[in-house]
Amino acid sequence: MKKTIYVTGIAVLVAAVFINCNKSAKDTVDTSLLTDSEKSLVKSAGFNSNWAEKTAEGNYLIEGDILLSKAQLDELVGVGSPNELIIANEEHYRTTNVVSTPGSGFRTITVRLGSGFPSHYSTGLDQALARYNNLNLKIRFQRVTSGGNIVISGRNLGTSGGGCILGQAAGFPTSSGNPSSGFTLSTSSCATSYLNTANRADEVIAHELGHCIGFRHTDFMNRSSCGQNVNEGSSGVGAIHIPGTPTTVSGSYNSWMMACTNGSPAFSSSDGTALNYVY
Ligand SMILES: [Zn+2]
Repeated sequence: MKKTIYVTGIAVLVAAVFINCNKSAKDTVDTSLLTDSEKSLVKSAGFNSNWAEKTAEGNYLIEGDILLSKAQLDELVGVGSPNELIIANEEHYRTTNVVSTPGSGFRTITVRLGSGFPSHYSTGLDQALARYNNLNLKIRFQRVTSGGNIVISGRNLGTSGGGCILGQAAGFPTSSGNPSSGFTLSTSSCATSYLNTANRADEVIAHELGHCIGFRHTDFMNRSSCGQNVNEGSSGVGAIHIPGTPTTVSGSYNSWMMACTNGSPAFSSSDGTALNYVY
């Protein structure tokens, strides 16, 4: 059985990562708990209202991987970006807001791994940051032990839609040009059994960091990497095609921002193109 990771993201929200042990299993999300008005709100915010559920805390878990409060959904209503340039299903996309950078030089983004994680998560984080930094972007990641622009915390995130949630990232950059505030890696047994190597931790951390700095799923139009045909929706955060990135599934499959990843933490050449174009 091939394990797949579902990853998603959307501004201010949360992107989560899932594993499913069987791609062909079409488990449905139990979203019947949403009222009609809640479904309407989800739809108005630009998401797929048929794939949303309410959490015990009263937030909305959308497409299995975006966690939004009602206030966040309210903010997204009617914010549709005029820049949604959707040309094909398999390209790299960014949100309308990205991290602001200086005209010259680079901006440092600090990242902190919370306590309680196994040591290979720490190794994975170092690997992920190094791969970003090796691209010589206008943003540089720096690991810190206190504070941090992006904070990685741990919590049992359980499951959604038949998949094990690996993580939920706090979405996308803010309108003021700051990265999202961080993400959660699940401490559930199913999550930790998947994230059992530094490379796996690297893979998921790098993906969530991608959301934090404004990248959407390469296959947000259909989540084809997950064997699905579900459009995540353009949402108020925008889905702006990044010039120079591939338009074919084969050209994109190894993207670090595919909704379901392939188990490799590496950046593809087009990932480098996308990162360099935006930063
Ligand atoms: Zn994702």
